[in-house]
Amino acid sequence: MLKWILSALLAALSLSAYSFSVNGSKWPGGTTHLHVGISGLSASGKAWSDALRRAALEWNDKTPFEFTLLSSYRDPCNGYRASTTSTGFPAGTGDDVNGADFTSTVCGNDYGTSVLAVTLVYTESNQLGAFDITQADIVFNSNSRFDIYDGPFDSNRGTDFTRVALHELGHVIGMGHEFSASSIMRERIGNLYTLQPDDIAGATTLYQGYTRCPVSRLDFGRVSGTLNAGDCTVQQLVGGGTDTSLTDVYQLDLAQSTRVTLNMNSGSLDSVLVLMNSRSEVLEIDDDGGTGCNSQIVRTLPAGTYAVLANTLTSATGDTSCGKNNGPYQLTARYDSSALIGVGRNTSLQGGRSSATFAGGVTTNGGTSFSNRVTPTQRFDVLGRITVDPAHRGRQGFLVMAAILENNQVYVRNPMGEFVPLGSQTSPVPVTSSKILGATENMTILGQAVASSFGMSDTSVRFLIGYGLNSNPNELYFHDEPINLLVSP
Ligand SMILES: [Zn+2]
Repeated sequence: MLKWILSALLAALSLSAYSFSVNGSKWPGGTTHLHVGISGLSASGKAWSDALRRAALEWNDKTPFEFTLLSSYRDPCNGYRASTTSTGFPAGTGDDVNGADFTSTVCGNDYGTSVLAVTLVYTESNQLGAFDITQADIVFNSNSRFDIYDGPFDSNRGTDFTRVALHELGHVIGMGHEFSASSIMRERIGNLYTLQPDDIAGATTLYQGYTRCPVSRLDFGRVSGTLNAGDCTVQQLVGGGTDTSLTDVYQLDLAQSTRVTLNMNSGSLDSVLVLMNSRSEVLEIDDDGGTGCNSQIVRTLPAGTYAVLANTLTSATGDTSCGKNNGPYQLTARYDSSALIGVGRNTSLQGGRSSATFAGGVTTNGGTSFSNRVTPTQRFDVLGRITVDPAHRGRQGFLVMAAILENNQVYVRNPMGEFVPLGSQTSPVPVTSSKILGATENMTILGQAVASSFGMSDTSVRFLIGYGLNSNPNELYFHDEPINLLVSP
């Protein structure tokens, strides 16, 4: 679905007014290009193109939005023509390129009374109910007198072009008119000639991404959550649109390209999963891709940061067979990989820093492939690998392996190879083995294990590995992102 938005900036003291709110429409990824090559100079000898460039750079500098500026000229009316039915909206679908120029008409249609400039914004609905802007062109009314100057509006010099450009670029970004606060986005031009706090707040609201809602970390494994009235909504998250469904937001960090399987299961709500990249672009959305009404996303993702929305429907009235739109759920994250996967967020007990890296994984086939999921009766190994900080190699040290159960009880592996409760250890750092540290330490955390023999049938275990030096026995270098084992039937 395509829809038009047209916004005009009116001259001071104009009595006629037409304006359009653009609540929630925005550029995917918070960036677009702009051709600034308007030819000619103002009466005061300044280039129009420089003023337009300066206006765009002000948005770049003060807000999360990023214009990529192209020096060349592009006709903003390319792909548009006069429409037969409207005085304001030209016909056509544009050219997918963002241009700007002085024109005597709005691409064939009348400017109307006192209109200084018009931004033609083309939008397309996206999967979250909000609109993505896909192209925007600016036309400045060549029947008006423009100059380039700072300071209060000066009727003797005409209208300052730069502040008009600032305003129109606000429409390009997706902002509507401001009717109360002091703002460059006021409907009428005035004495303001720089972006105001209200303008910056508006653009930041549109583009600061999914951090507008509380964000929890998602590690491989599973977490339980609940969607309750008062939780963040998709509308709040994306800064617009009409989707008022509840959502929890999780951040997933991948150290390498990984095939990821996400499941959101619930016995009481109709689960919906949404996967976004770090720029809040929706990569995938799923309602009932899992078993029954549960949702599932399976995807190979490049290394990077992602947002996973544990979401539901706006109302359950249309599909009550799949449950309500609030209640408890379980979110599971699995991976499949041909190698151990890097586990990140280096940390240490005493605050010391190291360049060590950590990797881990679960294999049921002797290391041919890795995942984090096993059935209760499958035989498996949990393997870890530490690439030791070069400064620590060849020194007398020790290795540590720990397991954290779903009830948060911590077990450490002792030198006899047994996992024992952390509380039973007497030394500050529970040592699994002592040795001269190599460049790479490969560790079998659990070897040829079967979950049912530990009485485990449906649970998630987090493993951590680390090392220390005998010269500083209270310090331990390890990772905060666990190596996960998910046991499920
Ligand atoms: Zn406007």
